[in-house]
Amino acid sequence: MQRALVCGAGGFIGGHLVRRLRREGMWVRGVDLKAPEFAPSEANEFVIGDLREAAVCAGVCDLAFDEVYQLAADMGGAGYIFTGENDAAIMQNSALVNLQMLEAARRAGVRRMFYSSSACIYPAHNQEDADNPNCAEDSAYPAAPDSEYGWEKLFSERLYLAYRRNHGMATAVARFHNIFGPEGTWTGGREKAPAAICRKVAEARSGDAIEVWGDGEQTRSFLYVDECLEGTIRLLRAGEAGPLNIGSEEMVSINQLVAMVAEIAGKRIEVRHVPGPLGVRGRNSDNRLIRERLGWAPSQPLRAGLERTYRWIEERVRGGVGAWGR
Ligand code: NAD
Repeated sequence: MQRALVCGAGGFIGGHLVRRLRREGMWVRGVDLKAPEFAPSEANEFVIGDLREAAVCAGVCDLAFDEVYQLAADMGGAGYIFTGENDAAIMQNSALVNLQMLEAARRAGVRRMFYSSSACIYPAHNQEDADNPNCAEDSAYPAAPDSEYGWEKLFSERLYLAYRRNHGMATAVARFHNIFGPEGTWTGGREKAPAAICRKVAEARSGDAIEVWGDGEQTRSFLYVDECLEGTIRLLRAGEAGPLNIGSEEMVSINQLVAMVAEIAGKRIEVRHVPGPLGVRGRNSDNRLIRERLGWAPSQPLRAGLERTYRWIEERVRGGVGAWGR
């Protein structure tokens, strides 16, 4: 039986990844600081541990793993990443996890190891035009990310590539672009735009106004979590180094996102624009390279994933579901 180790298995994407690998018939060990919030982990074994510590990393690598997925990071939405208040913690925590985990995996003889970088590594100056952002993989340098979170990701990308060159590991790096779906953070300050908007619309009555940060004309694309996993697994198993974008090319403004969610909810929703942390003006995935390298790219419409996500958040807002209810 093939074995996988998922670091960050208590998080949003990690939780979904564990489930997906188990369905494929793999034996899976998950590790995280915390258990998943919204559904019990489906991992064969779930270890609570701090991956900033070398001994914990060595301990979770004590089996022969065919695949290691390193998704653990100190992470959040714009309200966490872009205010500046958490910069030192973000850089310290995430860099330590990557340094320790990669070295432990090397010592344990792991060959295939995946790392989740982010679209946040792209230079801010290429994303000032809401209609024409440039996120082609080779536009990353000269580097100028707009957050320390992005700088740490860029450093860690290079770390995984260096281990590939110097230690012969088959490391693979993806740059995820705004992943969303059920069982993601939807309240409390770390949630991202799709979840925040779904929650605000679910809480509103028809005719109410919801608050949106900025003028709402900033653009983004959002990728449903199942397609993110598909790309992740394909990338690692193809033996490609990356970095490759894993994102959707269906770019929408935040105002358009609100309109789409309101339509799904069947409510008339007004928007009140308020100051808030914004990030770059425009961002979209550029999928030319992933199509070329993997012969595959995400293709599902945003609306389909939003419908599932809205229903999941709406159930929680209504309060009709227990902690682990589905
Ligand atoms: P998440 O915050 O839900 O999951 C990350 C998990 O890492 C959390 O459960 C957290 O407890 C764990 N973690 C943090 N520090 C740890 C430590 N010291 N030891 C053990 N576990 C630790 O985030 P997510 O949305 O599932 O993202 C997964 C990965 O994908 C992250 O690396 C993130 O940076 C990257 N990414 C995500 C997105 C997105 O839109 N969700 C976009 C770009 C990149």
